[in-house]
Amino acid sequence: MSTIKVKAEGIVKTFGATQVLDGVDISVNGGEVVVVLGPSGSGKTTLLRSLNLLETPDSGTLEVCGYRLDMGARGGFDRAARQRVAALRRRTAMVFQSFNLFPHMTALQNVIEGLISVKKVPKAEALACGEALLGQVGLADKRDSYPASLSGGQKQRVAIARGLAMDPEVIFFDEPTSALDPELRDEVLGVMRKLADDGMTMLVVTHEIRFAREAADRVIFMENGRVLTDCAKEVFFGDRAGLADIGERIERFLGRL
Ligand code: ADP
Repeated sequence: MSTIKVKAEGIVKTFGATQVLDGVDISVNGGEVVVVLGPSGSGKTTLLRSLNLLETPDSGTLEVCGYRLDMGARGGFDRAARQRVAALRRRTAMVFQSFNLFPHMTALQNVIEGLISVKKVPKAEALACGEALLGQVGLADKRDSYPASLSGGQKQRVAIARGLAMDPEVIFFDEPTSALDPELRDEVLGVMRKLADDGMTMLVVTHEIRFAREAADRVIFMENGRVLTDCAKEVFFGDRAGLADIGERIERFLGRL
């Protein structure tokens, strides 16, 4: 039986007067690739950021890599909860649309930074690990390049290698190819597909329907801060008869892309 790596129940998030998440339940099992689709503004990014507490939900319960957090306590998290937040962040990695690399560090330095500063891995060991990871994303020859001299696709692959360096139990991808020119997207999606094939647990917010078709186990479709459907890829892209009127909504969404 596979373990549940991510479980969110009843997640609510409001920004000012806008309710962005309206009671969201999701779960991701170990080794699963779950793709979150939905129109812009439906709350996908906010959901993903909530899962590692880059946003703090107003209410609901999270359990990520075995660390449980109940939201909505007055006065915020207590010390023990803050420790659980730090622990779950160490066990997860996040890949952002905008790469978020350190501009003053080379590709290799970016990849090993967390190993040295967070995991306290000895420098020589970190360097060997970083070089291997750059090789894994096809960038061994760019180890000494600074982000400014890399293409968007290369930057994103460095960002993925940096995430992998922390040996995460799950990786959250937030529209990892949206900032890239179409011809650079495939090199990033190729790296992601390889990770998926290797059994990495992944939760991916994306507009890349082909990636969802090819690599996802499950598709979660969101609209207006709610999960409209959560189903196997074969159902989402195949016979949607069982989804009743939601099938028609998905049809319109896919037709519009
Ligand atoms: P999606 O990823 O599906 O496009 P988002 O989660 O980015 O959706 O955004 C959902 C809604 O929340 C949008 O209306 C957006 O403007 C709003 N929103 C997101 N982040 C913030 C924020 N920090 N402050 C105010 N509103 C926000």
